[in-house]
Amino acid sequence: MKKQNKTGPWHFETGEYRPPSEGGSSSLLVRLTRNCPWNHCTFCAMYKGEKFELRPPSEIISDIDAMGRIASELKEISHRSGRNGTLTSAIVSEFFRKTPDLNFHPGVGMLISFLAAGGKTAFLQDADSLIMKAEDLVKVLVHLKSVFPSIERITSYGRSRTLARKPAQDLARIHEAGLDRIHIGLETGDPDLLKLIKKGSTPEDHVKGGKKAMAAGFQVSEYWMPGLGGKARSKDHALNTAKVLNLINPHYIRSRPFTPRPGTIFYENAGPNSLDPMTPKEQLREIHQTLEALELSSRICFDHAGNYWSGPDGRLLLSQSYEGYAFPEQKAQVLARIETGIQYYS
Ligand code: SF4
Repeated sequence: MKKQNKTGPWHFETGEYRPPSEGGSSSLLVRLTRNCPWNHCTFCAMYKGEKFELRPPSEIISDIDAMGRIASELKEISHRSGRNGTLTSAIVSEFFRKTPDLNFHPGVGMLISFLAAGGKTAFLQDADSLIMKAEDLVKVLVHLKSVFPSIERITSYGRSRTLARKPAQDLARIHEAGLDRIHIGLETGDPDLLKLIKKGSTPEDHVKGGKKAMAAGFQVSEYWMPGLGGKARSKDHALNTAKVLNLINPHYIRSRPFTPRPGTIFYENAGPNSLDPMTPKEQLREIHQTLEALELSSRICFDHAGNYWSGPDGRLLLSQSYEGYAFPEQKAQVLARIETGIQYYS
């Protein structure tokens, strides 16, 4: 995503990505940094060709103030129309009539969805907000909560390596200032595969970063990528991922099955015969192997369209709920359901 032009009192910057589990489409997106400070992962096209930039806290605060002014203006129109502060389409139309240049603003729809849903959740963009200096991040969090006191949960992406390097007291301060949940791209716990995909984190970084985030009080959500190692590395990927997850014991583990995407280094470098795609049965076998080796208390989630497998009844094999399944309580049930899928695709 390019740097956006900022002019006038209403203007603020919005990034492109956030995890789907964050309030559906109703989280307030606050852009703290631009793009990804690492940007080398071979399977990822999100910020390719875009330069990473830290944004000065004053600029972020000015964005939050602009969003606050729009929220106040909408509320005022609502009160004047006898709607007691609630948002209706007539109120939104009136607002756009008064500020026609905002019709084309990429973030205003997001802000209106956030307000209409009660203004409860916020997500800090882009790929690794924890890379900011703790004092700057704290300043932004405090300001965000003062402008939008209705916010109940603030979340962000964070890289394992960044978390592993951050002093524990800084993480605790950031949590205390209001950041509740961190989404971490673990992808795999296999050391060779981590090198191959150029993740920039070792299994040790994953464990250290994840455990430090847990110790600081954050809710930790780890994303793993079934199928990332293809057929050849499937077993090592499954078992080493389970090993690392067991050591972290995060609150959430989310499955994001690997798909080779055009625009990624992986896709561009792959020859026609080297994509090594796994069949649905092989994918399910690998997931079964990973889950069977888990000994932890986490929620295991399949909240992404990539978890597409169906069962003999024609329904989705695994629930795509954001809260997923409780392990260990539902482990036997999930494994049995995956067995059903393996049989179905045999
Ligand atoms: S750290 Fe995340 S955003 Fe950055 S390149 Fe890797 S997967 Fe993409």
